[in-house]
Amino acid sequence: MSSHESYYELDGDPALQRHIKLERERARKLRKTQWWLTLLNKGICHYCQNTFLSSELTMDHKIPLARKGKSTKGNVVPACRPCNQQKQLDTPAETLLNKLDALSSQSASSS
Ligand SMILES: [Zn+2]
Repeated sequence: MSSHESYYELDGDPALQRHIKLERERARKLRKTQWWLTLLNKGICHYCQNTFLSSELTMDHKIPLARKGKSTKGNVVPACRPCNQQKQLDTPAETLLNKLDALSSQSASSS
């Protein structure tokens, strides 16, 4: 499968790719916790300190998963979209993974 080849070409380290997948799964669960919802309700972006609607904030990893960061309370912060996008420019591996995720979910829903 050519899609798998390009997946590994991102970094060449399957253990790291597994780590990212696992931690992204954890992040998904963390988003449903009362702790996270309380942070969203406060509505303050960790980076620019501006106030946003909870729907405008995303979960950001201070240490990116691609750099062995984890989905723990100490490493995730609410970030507005501009700040999050700004940060993603620094972590191309994660951006690529997000694209791959979007692609794979598209093909899954069409079959
Ligand atoms: Zn911000």
